[in-house]
Amino acid sequence: MSWLYNQVTALPIMKFFVIIFAVLGLVSCSKEPPKETNSLSKTKDIFWGYVGESSPEHWGKDYPQCELGGDQSPINIDPKSVKVTSLPALRFTFSREPTDIEDNGHTVEVVFSDDPSENQGKSITLDYNEKGQLANSRAVEIEYNAKQDTLVVDDKEYRLAQFHFHSPSENVVNSQHYPMELHLVYEGAATQFAVVAVFLNIGAENPIIRTLWEHMPTYRGQKNDIRSLNSDFSGLLPTKRGYYTFQGSFTTPPCTRNVIWYVFHEPISVSQWQVDDFKKVMNHNNRPLQPLNSRPILSSQ
Ligand SMILES: [Zn+2]
Repeated sequence: MSWLYNQVTALPIMKFFVIIFAVLGLVSCSKEPPKETNSLSKTKDIFWGYVGESSPEHWGKDYPQCELGGDQSPINIDPKSVKVTSLPALRFTFSREPTDIEDNGHTVEVVFSDDPSENQGKSITLDYNEKGQLANSRAVEIEYNAKQDTLVVDDKEYRLAQFHFHSPSENVVNSQHYPMELHLVYEGAATQFAVVAVFLNIGAENPIIRTLWEHMPTYRGQKNDIRSLNSDFSGLLPTKRGYYTFQGSFTTPPCTRNVIWYVFHEPISVSQWQVDDFKKVMNHNNRPLQPLNSRPILSSQ
């Protein structure tokens, strides 16, 4: 977990976070991989980050998948070389039952309970260091377990595990970064993962993000109740639903492979202050571009 980097000063806090982690079953920036490679119940995690000795070029040491194969994410999407074709619509369903926002010293998450009787929902957690910054954090993450939050593509159904943010964007289009990128991480049958990516561009303030940011905890361990939030997270999707799709991986350790990516053509807007607020606590949390190699990129018409 990310707070391990500062274990000398953070030990008492760490214990608390380990408990929180165990209780909520929290995962890192990306949904954890199949249990045989890195169990959710595993209490030991190896620190990784975006700077210094824990930076992406060192991830492969502890997470071999980060260095395996030629199918890692993120990538550059060159619109001139994509194959435009007929692709199925992405059909989304979102629920509206948040519980709380929590700072677990690691990331920002919205969590849903598996138990329907407890399915008041979700929490958002924020990762701050002792200076009040998310210097080594990974993402703002919103986690789900609710069965009603789904993505359907053709006859395949995926369940939303969590969503989180990166700044700047991880994937790029025509070698250009957007200020931010939203990742909605879905899990299908047989631990087949799909990530839906939405670019965030500077423009009008985003009301959903405003709500999320307003409820961010301000210190480690803080948990803000958001049961009355009633946000419609479909507002985080663009109006036009054209997309690129390709094979890739999680962009964070353990860099789980065979992930299907759906990247919307159209960005949603966020205000400059919303990006600035995110950066204040997160700094940058984007993995460098990975080689595309021979992977095809398809684009809907
Ligand atoms: Zn991500």
